[in-house]
Amino acid sequence: MRALTQDRLLRGWEDAVGRTPTARAVALAAAAGGHTGEQAGDLPLGTRDALLADLRDACFGGDLDCLARCPACGAELEVAVPPADLRGPAAPVPAEAVLEAGGHRVRYRALTSRDLLAVGPAPVPAAEARRRLVARCVLDVDGTPPADGTLPEPVFTAVAEALPALDPRADIRLDLTCAVCAHVWAAPVDVAAHVWADVDACARGLLADVHVLARAYGWHEEEILALSPARRRFYLEAVGA
Ligand SMILES: [Zn+2]
Repeated sequence: MRALTQDRLLRGWEDAVGRTPTARAVALAAAAGGHTGEQAGDLPLGTRDALLADLRDACFGGDLDCLARCPACGAELEVAVPPADLRGPAAPVPAEAVLEAGGHRVRYRALTSRDLLAVGPAPVPAAEARRRLVARCVLDVDGTPPADGTLPEPVFTAVAEALPALDPRADIRLDLTCAVCAHVWAAPVDVAAHVWADVDACARGLLADVHVLARAYGWHEEEILALSPARRRFYLEAVGA
């Protein structure tokens, strides 16, 4: 993937800022992959997050610095995560899969951002949210789409258990060892949240540069963003920023 130009990065940031985490991730994935918001919303969550990890790698590179708290002793650990560990297994997510449960033949698909957006952000009890999400992933039971989202219990259970294997990149975990108590655990990583933090910091830094140079020289935003990083740095130093 090509690094986003500063202009596209700022547009992606502008589309994403002030929105819910899921809507932000969709806006960034759209900017990163050249998708419409609709297309990005329909990507399996693992595909979306792999796109975001590639975006981060192309724009910023380097390890991701994370903080993790040991679940055993509570110690806070600093962890440097190599970019490759954020992507998970490379196999593409199948458009759909089939399983048998309780005598039914079930076609289902991976969870998408659109599913998360449809269920949230209104406060919904976790069990109810899970039931609705699983139901949205079921395309049909014995050839018939589930009416009003209700599923036979064995179908619900089987699909809920099968979803992680269909899209393993949606749940990236790091094997960590606590430096204090040697506890070993698999820590989940919120790839979208980390990428957003980097994009947000970068966009705000660019806009702060524009602010300083526009005030000092009267240049327009697009003129300042068109400067090479080296020239911009020179002018920023020249005005004492
Ligand atoms: Zn510990």
